[in-house]
Amino acid sequence: MPAGLPPRSMSLFANAVFTISAAKLSDLPPPSGAEIAFAGRSNAGKSSAINTLAGRTRLAFVSKTPGRTQLINFFRLENGAFLVDLPGYGYADVPEEIRRQWQGVLAAYLSRRSSICGLVLIMDARRPLTELDRQMLEWFGPTGKPIHILLTKADKLTRSEAAKILHATRAELVPWADQVSVQLFSSLKKTGAEEAERIIGSWLVADEAAPEKRNAPG
Ligand code: GDP
Repeated sequence: MPAGLPPRSMSLFANAVFTISAAKLSDLPPPSGAEIAFAGRSNAGKSSAINTLAGRTRLAFVSKTPGRTQLINFFRLENGAFLVDLPGYGYADVPEEIRRQWQGVLAAYLSRRSSICGLVLIMDARRPLTELDRQMLEWFGPTGKPIHILLTKADKLTRSEAAKILHATRAELVPWADQVSVQLFSSLKKTGAEEAERIIGSWLVADEAAPEKRNAPG
């Protein structure tokens, strides 16, 4: 087993520990490990998904007050990598100026942070690929790094509705097929966590094999 990787039986995200919050780009810690970035529209279910993956009830805080100071939260994993919880986007009630400012932070982090090894994008399965979700793909896509989409709240759909949405979302992502994968997920039913871990885990293996890729400028 390569050094630094958890044994197969142990969850990648188990025992994640909060390390630091950044309110702006200049607060970001110097890169010290592979970062798995989590982003999503507010209320899409990102905090719940992080908690489900970590097997915790309150690692990421669920149902934050919209509009309060938004932070980039770093959680250190047992293998030295980081889970980075990015501020939710698309709050309806946030003043335009603050919204623009946060979009600038997200754009800069996603497009320039060399230590990111992949992006997990959380979408409500009933409303996948909104304009802002596509914006994330546009910002992060040019890095060439992998993106994995969790279509969450799948428990709110029938099995056939969910399958249809998965299929339709994949079809829309054909232009990104080399880089983007999609799956159904439910924090309520705790379904999809193994698949997500397998994919995210593979990013870390690739990163360990070629860390110079991550550290390359740009
Ligand atoms: P965030 O703003 O993206 O972090 O979203 P939250 O994780 O706070 O979830 C927003 C709301 O959706 C909360 O009321 C959650 O309880 C609910 N929610 C999140 N995930 C699921 C899920 O998988 N199934 C169902 N039924 N509800 C969910």
